[in-house]
Parts: sequence; structure tokens; C-alpha cells
Amino acid sequence: MKKVLFLLLAISIVSCKSSEKKGKEVTIPKVKLYQLVGGSILVKKLEAFSQDTTYTGQSKQLTDAYYVISHPKGNLMWDAGLPEGLVVAEPFNEPSGVFAIQRPDSLVNQLKTIGYKIEDFNYFAMSHSHFDHTGHANLMKKAIWLVQENEFNSVAGDSLKAKDPAVSALQNYKKLHGDYDVFGDGTVVIKYMPGHTVGHQVLYVDLGLEKPILLTGDLYHFQENRTNRGVPSFNYDVKQTLESMDKFEAFAKEKNAEVIIQHSTADFKKLEDILKRQ
Ligand SMILES: [Zn+2]
Repeated sequence: MKKVLFLLLAISIVSCKSSEKKGKEVTIPKVKLYQLVGGSILVKKLEAFSQDTTYTGQSKQLTDAYYVISHPKGNLMWDAGLPEGLVVAEPFNEPSGVFAIQRPDSLVNQLKTIGYKIEDFNYFAMSHSHFDHTGHANLMKKAIWLVQENEFNSVAGDSLKAKDPAVSALQNYKKLHGDYDVFGDGTVVIKYMPGHTVGHQVLYVDLGLEKPILLTGDLYHFQENRTNRGVPSFNYDVKQTLESMDKFEAFAKEKNAEVIIQHSTADFKKLEDILKRQ
């Protein structure tokens, strides 16, 4: 009997040790994030970013970043900046009089600066389908476009009289219905946050640093917008936007995430510093 007990004890110690060892061997996949400037946007009439007169008479310089996420299982591009036709010497004053817009360089040239080519991407996703996020989308046709089904229907659905030309080249797509874990390990997750558009989404990226990154898409456009819960005049649904803001803030708190407002020039600099540590 003593022998059996001893044997059992020995086995349990060994199995305990081996599970300890296994625990230590679990490595977090190395995820890397890069940010690129897809454009600059001077907002000449900031009141467009509120439901009231909060910003009347103000103007603001925004950036228009897009992102490359490299994961051992593949690469994802998030957002696509302004169209390459706006790689021009002087900012273009668009007809509504709200924006002056310009893109610094082409996708190919920008990817070259971080050692990537267009063909390197398995996945392509956008926070939403406004023109300052779909810029070079037409060049991403080899990647799988990850898009909420309702957003897809609003720009590329069969029932539409005219599909949005910015995305009509994307024939390789996967329709999503809510949150989506891109590589299946929780490191890169698309979160469904509708309201700005019908299928607007944000991106969670865990780089293994002290805080994961949470890219806002256009849930917010600048810091005061987040503080004041400002809803732009051109949003799809005000109530849904406010609900998404609540959901977003709760998720950011739960994950202790570093929130990056994609159009914020200050957040672009902040993320640049964070990314030096990866
Ligand atoms: Zn935008």
C-alpha cells in the first residue's frame, strides 16, 4: 500500500512539474504593429463633428493613419487612408468647403519603408467605408476583406443601384456578424461598434507590451470629441454611436488598453513612441 501511495505521489509531483513546465513554454505570438500616414485632413469647419454648435468657428488639423499588423499566421492591413489621387503638391479643397485633404505618398512606397509589399497581406479590414478610410482599398484585392455584413450591404450589396467604386474591386471577402478574432488567439480582434456607419468597427491589438492597443476607427475623431462624447453631424445613428462609446470605454477599461484615436495627430505621436518598445 505504501508503495502505491508513494507511486501516486511521485506521479502527481511529476505531472505537476510537467504542467508547470508547459505553462512556462506557452509563448505569446509575436505581433507587430506599424502605423503609416494615409493623409492629412484640415477640418475648416469643425462644427461638422458635433450635433450642436460646440465647435462652431473652429478648425482642426487631423491625420489619417492606417496600420499594418504582422502576426505569425499572416498580415492584416487596417484602413486605407485617402485615395492615391490625392498624392499632390497642394492640399485639395473638396467642394463642401469642410475639408482640405492630401496624401503624402502611394501605398507601394509607404509599405517599402517598413519592408512590405501589397502581396504580403492575407487580410484587409477597414473601420468603415468613408472616403478617408477606403483610399487605396482597390489595391488590396488579393487579401480577404473582413467586413461587417451590414456595412458590406451598404457599399457593395447586390441590391444597390451603384456599388461604391472604392471597394468594388474587392471580390475576396468574409462577411462578419459582430466581433471577430482575426488569428484565433485573442491578439488581434475586430470589435463591432456601429453608429458612425452601419457596420463601423474598431481594432484591439495585443503586442505583448504592458498595455494592449485599441484603435478607435472614427468612433472618436479627436480627444475633446471623446471627452465630450461628441457625435458628428454626419453619423449614421446617434443613439447607436453613444451605445458603442459606452461599450468601447468599458472594454478599454477591462483590458487596460491604450486608446489611440486614429485621426488625432497627438495620438499618432503617442503611438510612435509606444511602437519603439516592441
Ligand atoms: Zn475618418
